[in-house]
Amino acid sequence: MLTGMHVAVIGGDARQLEVIRKLTELDAKLSLIGFDQLDHGFTGASKVKIDEVDFSDVDAIVLPVHGTNMEGEINTIFSNEKVVLTEPLLRQTPNHCTVYSGISNDYLDGLITITGRKHVQLFERDDVAIYNSIPTVEGTIMMVIQHTDFTIHGSRVAVLGLGRVGMSVARTFASLGAHVKVGARRSEHIARITEMGLEPFHLNDLENNVKDIDVCINTIPHMIVTASVISKMPAHTLIVDLASKPGGTDFRYAEKRGIKALLAPGLPGIVAPKTAGQIVANVLSQLLSDDLKKRKENKK
Ligand code: NAP
Repeated sequence: MLTGMHVAVIGGDARQLEVIRKLTELDAKLSLIGFDQLDHGFTGASKVKIDEVDFSDVDAIVLPVHGTNMEGEINTIFSNEKVVLTEPLLRQTPNHCTVYSGISNDYLDGLITITGRKHVQLFERDDVAIYNSIPTVEGTIMMVIQHTDFTIHGSRVAVLGLGRVGMSVARTFASLGAHVKVGARRSEHIARITEMGLEPFHLNDLENNVKDIDVCINTIPHMIVTASVISKMPAHTLIVDLASKPGGTDFRYAEKRGIKALLAPGLPGIVAPKTAGQIVANVLSQLLSDDLKKRKENKK
C-alpha cells in the first residue's frame, strides 16, 4: 500500500490513467496536474493547477513517458493548461522526492543534476522494455499486414538486432510461419538466434542477406539500413523501422528507390494504451512502495 505517500501526476496521455487508477487503489494521495478536462474522477485524487500544489509535501513526481520537452513543458492531452517543470518548483520538493518518466532529455537531465533529485527512467529498465516489446510486436504485425499484399506466413523476414524488441519480433514472426533471419553483431546473439531455430547472420554481411527478403524489421537505433543495403533489396520489400527516432534507415534513399519504409515509433501507446499504461503502473507502484518502505525503515 502507498498510504501516506503524496504523488504529483503531471500530464500525459491515456496510459497515465492506468497509473492513476493503480496508485489510487494503493491509497496514495494524488495531485493530478493537467487533467482538468478529464471527465472521470478518481477517489483520493484531486485535479489541481500546478501553482495550487504544495510541492514541499510531494514524495514523487510522475511525468508522462516523454518527460518534458526541451523547454520543460509537459504534454497534457487532458488540459489546455501550459504546464512547465521548473527548477524553483523542483527545489520546493523534499530531498527524497523522486521524479519518474519513461525517457529523458537534456532539459530534464539538467534539472535533475542542479536540484540533486533522483530520477528514474522507467523505459531503461529491462522489465519494462521486455513487457513493452509485447504490444510493440502486435503493432508491428498490424503494420506489416496493412502495408503488404502477402501473408506473413511463408514470407521472408529479416529482423535487425536481437535486443529486447528484436527477440520478441523474431520469435513472434517465426511462430506466424514466416522464414525469419536475424542480423546481430555479437557471437552470443548469433548463438541465441541459432538456438531459437532461426537463421542467424552477422551484420557485416547485411547486404548479402537482404537480397531475397519481403520484410525488413529494424530494431537497431543506429544508421544500419543504408542506401547501399536498400539498393540490394527486392523492389517489393517493406521496411518497418522500430528504432527510436530518427530510426536506422535511410528513408530518403528508400523513397527515391520506391521502397516502402515506415518509421513506427511509440507502438505500445498506439495499439494498446491500456496495457502500455498497466506496464508502467505495475512497475511504478512497486518502485514507490519500495521507496516508502525504505524511508520508513530509515526513520526507525
Ligand atoms: P536493446 O535491447 O538495447 O537492443 C538494441 C539492439 O541493437 C541490440 O541487439 C544491440 O546489439 C543492437 N545495436 C545497438 N547499436 C548497434 C550498432 N551500432 N550496430 C549494431 N547493432 C547495434 O533495445 P530494445 O529495447 O530492443 O529497443 C530497440 C529500439 O526500439 C530502441 O531504439 C527503442 O527505443 C525502440 N523501441 C521502439 C518501440 C516502438 O514502438 N517502435 C517500442 C519499444 C522500443 P548489441 O547488444 O550488440 O549492442
